[in-house]
Amino acid sequence: MRATIALLPGDGIGPEVTEAAARVLEVVARRFDHDLTLTRHPIGGTALRAGDPPLPDATRAACAAADAVLLGAVGDPEFDHGPSAGRPETGLLQLRKELAVFANLRPARMWPGLEDGGSLKPDRVRGLDMLIVRELTGGLYYGEPRGRTDDGQAAFNTMRYARPEIERIAVVAFESARQRRGLVTSVDKANVLDTSRLWREVVTEVGARYPDVRLEHQYVDSCALLMVTDPQKFDVVVAGNLFGDILSDEAGGLVGSLGLLPSASVGGRGGLFEPVHGSAPDIAGRDIANPVAAIASAAMLLRHALGADEEAGVIERAIGDTLAAGLRTADLLAGASGAAVSCSGMTDAVVERLEQA
Ligand code: NAD
Repeated sequence: MRATIALLPGDGIGPEVTEAAARVLEVVARRFDHDLTLTRHPIGGTALRAGDPPLPDATRAACAAADAVLLGAVGDPEFDHGPSAGRPETGLLQLRKELAVFANLRPARMWPGLEDGGSLKPDRVRGLDMLIVRELTGGLYYGEPRGRTDDGQAAFNTMRYARPEIERIAVVAFESARQRRGLVTSVDKANVLDTSRLWREVVTEVGARYPDVRLEHQYVDSCALLMVTDPQKFDVVVAGNLFGDILSDEAGGLVGSLGLLPSASVGGRGGLFEPVHGSAPDIAGRDIANPVAAIASAAMLLRHALGADEEAGVIERAIGDTLAAGLRTADLLAGASGAAVSCSGMTDAVVERLEQA
């Protein structure tokens, strides 16, 4: 296999975890005799500091030309108070739209051995395995009009969904459920929002084409509650951009850390692969971030963008074996005793297992 992967390290812990994923991709390429070219490009605060927009034209072009894109994270407190056009996050929103990756797959699984590390009782989370399918290029994050009134005293955003946008994300959810345990939970706020009433209507119509998949509807508030009272009941959860964003962070709490959650954004060209977490400025530059989310995102890249299922499985097994052997980055210790390994130490351990695989 020959492929080019555009790496966008970004801000904060982004560069640290992206390097971890890059190391893993290089080892897999060597072991499986693939010709992977990894190129690196600025995005977000890194681009802004160099005097460029948050998604520079050269980065945009490199991503469009690549077979897949792997991003670390964007977000830099220095740019938190400027207008949208000058914010790091705007670069990522533009890239998602540009690549037309409307379906964001966010698996959350409980790795064996980590059951004691989450905020719930171990019995509640043992074997937990859910897939959040988040709509990524529509809804409140993109709706127009948006902005402030002329006097600056009010601000507004628009939540808007058109039928085809809902239909295509619902299809992704039902197809995914067919490969899993056959349950789709659709999340909305249909008791209040018009967009949610359309969402529920269209998801129900699509569901009728999948008689082998069970469909349940949950209001987002009750879904947030159920995720902490009965998380094992979920299989595939499908939600709009805003609700999916919020619920997937909650899933991070269930499995022990945001630093464990990978994601794949697909549906357009190639695909965009990134950890669910942000740039974590509070721990950036100290080599203490958990690289697992980024490494698992690299596995999703191999599976979804390059069709390399076996290679993806080998990486996931190496992560599982490393965690089962007791290695923990600081976020996974959560006050428990034991020494934490660094970001590079955790990566070394995964790489070592890949070399032996
Ligand atoms: P965050 O995900 O960066 O951090 C939340 C908490 O989780 C922090 O305490 C952080 O230390 C911890 N954490 C996150 N990833 C971790 C990892 N790999 N290992 C160990 N601990 C980890 O969210 P935030 O603090 O709300 O946002 C920080 C910045 O990131 C903001 O500028 C925000 O806009 C941006 N952000 C970017 C993305 C993205 O690039 N996709 C996503 C979310 C937030």
